[in-house]
Amino acid sequence: MTTVAAYAAPAAKAPLERTTVERRPVGENDVLIDIKFAGICHSDIHQVREGWGKAIFPMVPGHEIAGVVAETGPGVTRFKTGDRVGVGCMVDSCRVCTNCKAGLEQYCADGPVWTYNSIGKDGEPTYGGYAQTVVVDENYVVRIPGALPLDAAAPLLCAGITTYSPLRHWAAGPGKRVAVVGLGGLGHVAVKIAHALGADVTVLSQSLRKKDDGLRLGAAHYHATSDPATFEELAGHFDLIVNTVSAPLDFAAYFSLLRTDGTMVNLGLPEEPVPVAMQALFGGRRSMSSSGIGGIAETQEMLDFCAEHGVTAEIELIRADQVNEAYERVLASDVRYRFVIDTATI
Ligand code: NAP
Ligand code: ZN
Ligand code: ZN
Repeated sequence: MTTVAAYAAPAAKAPLERTTVERRPVGENDVLIDIKFAGICHSDIHQVREGWGKAIFPMVPGHEIAGVVAETGPGVTRFKTGDRVGVGCMVDSCRVCTNCKAGLEQYCADGPVWTYNSIGKDGEPTYGGYAQTVVVDENYVVRIPGALPLDAAAPLLCAGITTYSPLRHWAAGPGKRVAVVGLGGLGHVAVKIAHALGADVTVLSQSLRKKDDGLRLGAAHYHATSDPATFEELAGHFDLIVNTVSAPLDFAAYFSLLRTDGTMVNLGLPEEPVPVAMQALFGGRRSMSSSGIGGIAETQEMLDFCAEHGVTAEIELIRADQVNEAYERVLASDVRYRFVIDTATI
């Protein structure tokens, strides 16, 4: 075991503080990663606050990990010391179920081993990326292309794949009208990727405060959801609505913006159940769906796509001791557009 410095929440809702955690020895197929940057996802905040149910403490959040390989186990074939690598939300899965075999490890029948707030195959709790190092099986590690700076690439490991996967699944591209609801961490990457895929992109934000940014990131249109005229003007307009909002929404109002056979895919994971009026879907054979991150191969595909199209996150780089303040700003929708911790400051 190796002791490394980390930032952890000692208990539910408690502020994060500097501490240490144990990392397992580098096994046969493991890669030891020297973590350089860790993005702050809203999911980190939901879990630190036990908003999704009982969690494991102390909790070292962080599933947007970018770093450099420091050591490899004897059986590792895909990575060598010095490689630039990333780790997202999963660090293992059963590998034999139908979903794992189909490259959908995120939907593993046994549930994947999450990067933190989970129990690993060794029976020990997993600890995430707000730390100096992590040891991960090479099958759950991806390569960060040289064209992507490590700090701005870190958020792609969750925000990138979470938006890329549904945009590809529902075939966002030329001739498709795509709405992105919420211009936060996920939302701003969704805008960039949907634009790079050739879709006609609209941002639906609470206000017009970030309009200039939204248009610069690749949206062709920008509307405030606080303005009732938005819902009249855009009725029946979209092929696909990508909802990245972390709080409950008036779903019926958004369904009315879909064309016949349009889909609203929900990526946001509010802490409370959301009532849905089925009549709103019924008019026009509309669908409501959800999507969770993406598989390992698709995460690599997303990184290669982002390198090819120059897509990275817009980040605010912070010191580790600013993490609690950053959480408050995320909760206040005051993030432009992803906080990333410089792990050298831990
Ligand atoms: P974020 O940076 O906080 O962005 C969420 C955005 O939603 C905000 O910037 C804001 O955008 C909007 N918003 C916030 N509160 C709102 C409210 N009460 N009403 C309307 N709009 C509101 O969060 P994130 O990191 O992108 O994560 C978003 C959600 O996705 C979280 O629930 C997270 O847990 C979840 N998530 C899911 C997956 C998955 O696999 N499905 C993966 C990662 C994250 P505007 O200011 O533009 O309105
Ligand atoms: Zn995340
Ligand atoms: Zn499985």
